[in-house]
Amino acid sequence: MLGILGGTFDPIHFGHLRPALEVMEHLRLDEVRFVPCRIPPHRRTPVASVEHRLAMVERAVHGQPGFVVDRRELDRDGPSYSVDTLESLRAELGNDTPLCLMMGMDAFAGLPSWHRWEEILKLAHIVVAHRPGSPASHDLGDWATEAATRDLNELRARPAGAVWFQPVTQLDISATAIRAMLRRGESPRYLMPSSVLDYIRAQGLYLDASPTQGAATR
Ligand code: ATP
Repeated sequence: MLGILGGTFDPIHFGHLRPALEVMEHLRLDEVRFVPCRIPPHRRTPVASVEHRLAMVERAVHGQPGFVVDRRELDRDGPSYSVDTLESLRAELGNDTPLCLMMGMDAFAGLPSWHRWEEILKLAHIVVAHRPGSPASHDLGDWATEAATRDLNELRARPAGAVWFQPVTQLDISATAIRAMLRRGESPRYLMPSSVLDYIRAQGLYLDASPTQGAATR
């Protein structure tokens, strides 16, 4: 069973990494694929270029068995839709492997506005990590309650179609807050891996609010 965590990762932080590890261990995932998006469909242009965001994700997962960087969205033109990513993974892995699309509760709450969102559940399970400040699961609508399961065997036995709510250590960390700290000259140390912070410092990222930093924006 494979986990997929898509994100802007602008930059990646412990609020991504710790829940991903907890989900991987709890669900006994073979691996978690971190998939940085090229163009996020629902939000403003990322501040750091795709190559910088990819480099930060690579540094962050280095040395953690099971954590893998997947750059398929960076090589695709147009908006980075999760449904396209899942279709391409299915084409590679076949129809039998259970896939778990992982996301925070904030992202899950907005799922019905995603491109071809109903097809996502045909391609993968959705694993939702609680996140500080996001809505409770019972506010999410009937479809989510109906698809929700608490049976790990069911999740492992089917390739797609279930929703799983996973309690994780609550870390009130966001990339937005980290970028704001860096702009103010404050340190985000202990909110993210030091290897990522070293990279940010070496490349001079997030020092001002100008959009898309780094030459390689692709
Ligand atoms: P930004 O502050 O720029 O919006 P972010 O910190 O929310 O960024 P993203 O790259 O947009 O990070 O998030 C990728 C995925 O990780 C999303 O599904 C999001 O819900 C989840 N996520 C991010 N931060 C946390 C956190 N602190 N706890 C749990 N899930 C998180």
